[in-house]
Amino acid sequence: MTKWVYGFGGGSAEGRSDMRELLGGKGANLAEMCNLGLPVPPGFTITTEVCTAFYDNDRAYPDGLNAEVETALAAVEKLVGRSFGDAKDPLLVSVRSGARASMPGMMDTVLNLGLNDETVEALASVSGDRRFAYDSYRRFIQMYGDVVLGVDHYHFEDILETVKEDKGVTLDTDMSADDWAEVVEAFKKKVQSELGQPFPQDPREQLWGAIGAVFGSWMNARANTYRRLHNIPASWGTAVNVQAMVFGNMGNDCATGVCFSRNPSTGEDRFYGEYLINAQGEDVVAGIRTPAPLTEIEKQESGSDLISMEAAMPRVFKELCDIREKLESHYRDMQDMEFTVESGKLYMLQTRAGKRTAKAALRIAVEMCRDGVISQKDAIMRVNPAQLDQLLHPTLDPEADRKVVGMGLPASPGAASGQIVFSAEVAEEWAGKGRKVILVRIETSPEDIAGMHAAQGILTSRGGMTSHAAVVARGMGTPCVCGAGAVKIDYANKTMMSGGVTLKEGDVITLDGATGEVMLGEVATLKPDLSGDFSQLMEWADVLRRLKIRTNAETPEEAETARGFGAEGIGLCRTEHMFFDPERIISMREMILAETEQGRRSALAKLLPYQRQDFIDLFRIMKGLPVTIRLLDPPLHEFLPHGDAEIAEVAKAAGVSEAIVKRRLLDLAEANPMLGHRGCRLGISYPEIYEMQARAIFEAAIEVTKDGGDPVIPEIMIPLIVGKKELEILKAAIIKVAAEVEDEKGAKLKYLVGTMIELPRAALRAGEIAEEAEFFSFGTNDLTQTTFGLSRDDAARFLDTYIAKDIFAGDPFVSLDQDGVGELVSLAAERGRATRSDIKLGICGEHGGDPASIAFCEAQGLDYVSCSPYRVPIARLAAAQAALGK
Ligand code: ADP
Ligand code: MG
Ligand code: MG
Repeated sequence: MTKWVYGFGGGSAEGRSDMRELLGGKGANLAEMCNLGLPVPPGFTITTEVCTAFYDNDRAYPDGLNAEVETALAAVEKLVGRSFGDAKDPLLVSVRSGARASMPGMMDTVLNLGLNDETVEALASVSGDRRFAYDSYRRFIQMYGDVVLGVDHYHFEDILETVKEDKGVTLDTDMSADDWAEVVEAFKKKVQSELGQPFPQDPREQLWGAIGAVFGSWMNARANTYRRLHNIPASWGTAVNVQAMVFGNMGNDCATGVCFSRNPSTGEDRFYGEYLINAQGEDVVAGIRTPAPLTEIEKQESGSDLISMEAAMPRVFKELCDIREKLESHYRDMQDMEFTVESGKLYMLQTRAGKRTAKAALRIAVEMCRDGVISQKDAIMRVNPAQLDQLLHPTLDPEADRKVVGMGLPASPGAASGQIVFSAEVAEEWAGKGRKVILVRIETSPEDIAGMHAAQGILTSRGGMTSHAAVVARGMGTPCVCGAGAVKIDYANKTMMSGGVTLKEGDVITLDGATGEVMLGEVATLKPDLSGDFSQLMEWADVLRRLKIRTNAETPEEAETARGFGAEGIGLCRTEHMFFDPERIISMREMILAETEQGRRSALAKLLPYQRQDFIDLFRIMKGLPVTIRLLDPPLHEFLPHGDAEIAEVAKAAGVSEAIVKRRLLDLAEANPMLGHRGCRLGISYPEIYEMQARAIFEAAIEVTKDGGDPVIPEIMIPLIVGKKELEILKAAIIKVAAEVEDEKGAKLKYLVGTMIELPRAALRAGEIAEEAEFFSFGTNDLTQTTFGLSRDDAARFLDTYIAKDIFAGDPFVSLDQDGVGELVSLAAERGRATRSDIKLGICGEHGGDPASIAFCEAQGLDYVSCSPYRVPIARLAAAQAALGK
């Protein structure tokens, strides 16, 4: 029989931290903390399997759940010494969601459950604090009303504002017991009038309502968006945790807080956190009150005038410090912990591996490894390769002029410039049009996720380092400044006022997420510094990886950048990009539009010197590392002149009439250029094009070597073949050119001729093709398009729907479709090797920089992956993780 409920508390638990699939992250870690003997309020976890069963059975619970919940609840009652719903000394509980992967803010927690008109009086008399009891009751009605009953929270906030105004009170802390009782009455009335039903008074009805709401929220729009952005399958489900309440809002010896065992922004090995005295639940992250620093050092450094926990509650702080050490050494990773202090007694409410910036991730991994806490392999596995992206981008130039108009908390590092917008919707809309935007909000909430994703940077005027904006931005690697209190935001007029300046929607600002500065206009940036922890981890990764990492580069700048990032060669140099220069495009067009071989040859002769120089530059930068050069590939229409002025220019250069050029344009028009006259088909029709390119490559190789430079072994790559025959013809032509150049220059050449495998037929015929090809490079962009019969340029329109309906697991152009396209790659590799055992194999699509695709390439035993320059470090780390069997 399936066990649906797992209890914890009183120094032991039925669950463990390695049961997160079943218990969710929160439930598994609550159980583990109990097992470690830490002070955790008792409770129980309803498993993720119940969630799955719930959705499989038309939102009905499995048999036996009710009885198991009753048994577990009775155990909690026994441990606490109070009964749920008891009119004298009631047990109150929290109902909390907890998915396998942490989904901050996606699911809603209900606190103080079990309160009603009767138990609130009991709570008042047991605690001797009527104000506290009614404060808890009004919190409960609001949370339960909003989350479970669907009465929008603004109704409650309006009432609260009105009552406060009536009483002449500004702060919640100044409200009296009677004031809260009045609020409670008004809240209940509001629920009655909104729903036509009274607020539920039966604690068991409340409990099941809350459990149902947690399971229900698994499929709400916010959760769906978050899951889509983070590739979390809907099938995982969430668990529900029901836990005895402890109260941080019972007076000044009470508090609630959030802390990290190391600094999540810098990675520094120092306790870090925020707390609030006399507060409950999400007050710390909600941005309603500004939280105080945990430690004295933090207080001094931030210049806060609030009293630190270290000073206010030294004994409890000491206890928390011990728990920090205990949890960190137990989990051997930086922990993000939530705690509450009730009447001087500390309770732990949550622990999990803390989210961190890339910089912090590197520092923590490297330092823990140096301290012998984790191995080099662990250190490599700890850093998410995709996150490194944050470090590879520019930071503000310290020399650049900056006009600082505001200051907030440095919540997520990196520099960002963009036009300000005041809503997530506008952020999405403008970003969709290719504009760079900075999202400016008083505070953010889960509904803003998509807009936050679209923004270059995020600025909020409220909330601390653990506010929603800060946590989400760090996860996304988006620069963020939060809690900039002096920035006055006016949503209605779409303006923000800061440092005496008023800015309106569309004005440009720059944020420095590492210092918290807000600046006017765009500020110059500097290249990233990749020394220190970064190079240390990369060094470890380089020793452990097997795959070589090359780059896709055609310009000297790209090649230099990629070399700086550690590229070990060029896997794809697209020669056509060399023809778009204004001084070259005319000759290129002249060549395409020529009607005779003679005409083409004369245009090509003008291109040869340019092309040769390009290769000389590249070979010099690459210093003997392998360079794979792809001969002309794109559909010719991409080069054709548009408008009359351009046509006239080409006609003049070619010495023909404009009418002839126009007629030729019509001749060349294709219905579907992507599947038309392109790739090696051009080389077959016009051999002189590839001959010129081969000559340029060979002459450049000799030129560079002659200077005493490193030997160059160019790898000449023929695109878009469908079988062996095309390669046979083109390879023979290339060999002939090589022999001619050798004769002319009196030098010997070393080179390889190979092909791209980017059409399903080529993959199938790989065995035969390998008789000619000395290497294969899998062009997985085109291979994906042609295997799916899906144009990358047109897919965006319906791809989201396909992903939402779970037809595709993700965008196949971002991460390789391992089942389909992957099968072709694997089959071609196998057939190619069977013919030529030492055939060089690599991949050069966008997938070369995607960690999951890199793992696939490792499994297939390819020799290298090639990716864009900025992804080279990501690929180096991902390749090491793949080698370690991630
Ligand atoms: P989230 O997943 O958004 O972090 P939690 O379930 O951790 O939500 O709940 C949010 C906050 O509610 C906690 O940080 C804690 O302050 C408060 N809370 C939850 N359960 C309890 C409890 N049993 N007693 C007191 N406070 C609680
Ligand atoms: Mg929450
Ligand atoms: Mg929490």
